[in-house]
Amino acid sequence: MKILITGGAGYIGSHVVKALLEEGGHEIVVIDNLCKGTQKAIDALKSVGAFEFIQMDLENIAKMDEIFKFNKFDAIIHFAAFIEVFESMSNPLKYYLNNTANAINLIALCQKYGVKNFIFSSTAATYGEPETGVVSEESPQNPINPYGRSKLMTEWVLKDAGAANRDFKYGILRYFNVAGASSDGLIGQNYPNATHLVKVATQTIVGKREKMSIFGDNYPTSDGTCVRDYIHVEDLAQAHLSVLRYLQNNDSSVFNVGYGTGFSVKEVIECAKKVSGVDFKVENAPRRDGDPARLISNADKLKAKTDWTPKHNNLEEIVQSALNWEKKN
Ligand code: UDP
Repeated sequence: MKILITGGAGYIGSHVVKALLEEGGHEIVVIDNLCKGTQKAIDALKSVGAFEFIQMDLENIAKMDEIFKFNKFDAIIHFAAFIEVFESMSNPLKYYLNNTANAINLIALCQKYGVKNFIFSSTAATYGEPETGVVSEESPQNPINPYGRSKLMTEWVLKDAGAANRDFKYGILRYFNVAGASSDGLIGQNYPNATHLVKVATQTIVGKREKMSIFGDNYPTSDGTCVRDYIHVEDLAQAHLSVLRYLQNNDSSVFNVGYGTGFSVKEVIECAKKVSGVDFKVENAPRRDGDPARLISNADKLKAKTDWTPKHNNLEEIVQSALNWEKKN
């Protein structure tokens, strides 16, 4: 397949590029403006296999049009987006312009040039604050922050575009909490000011941070801290390949991508202390705006309908791989 990957120099995108290069048989074009993604990831990926890299902004529609005109893509895998819930509360337009408007332009280009497959990085944040904390693909979507809303709107556009044009198939992947790094240590999470829990914990272990905070310990959960479904980035990457294969013989569909197991913030921190043997400093801090108490996937559909078989469903392994990466970088 000839595949365009937007955001392929970023955390999840780079793991999908790696998985596709390892699978072989694909012609890959990566675009990334390197605002979050890194040249370092691109260079590392070049050691896995050949692909074209174009550094550019998605909002450059004229250039995007040219790229679509000169490449006959079979599939688009769209990662390029902003992902921080907290930031989206204070700067919502940044999220709507990139995560929604730029995605709509990309979908329009797919329609114009007859691209048949679109894999979209959506998020569990589109579910909002679910009553039981466990969500299936059919659960109501009531996002409680602009990040979740910016992704949900793109889901709607994809669904409408797919309903109007049966030749255009989409696979919407709703990610839960992605963490870890590639098992061979080649790539990992590079964001300079990362805010995600596992990343922050490993940065504290290696001394890049003096301490870390628990944002809220009075949630209605067993230990008062928020519960999330943490998934290893390599399993998440493989889900994209599985859904792309699925779309070749099936209709458009939506999939949760998680393991269906929840861990609290305190449990993740305990795990990080155990794996590293470092008793790093943790303090309690106020709740962070926009955080739901519990968000766990029911991921039965992905396992039942596609060939996806998770291989790293283990919190210690996830934290260990993130730590290995943090130590090396
Ligand atoms: N969290 C925390 N301290 C940190 C980073 C995150 O207590 O330094 C909490 C955060 O409030 C949330 C959970 O960890 O309840 C997961 O947050 P993260 O940012 O990793 O992912 P999100 O679920 O927001 O996408």
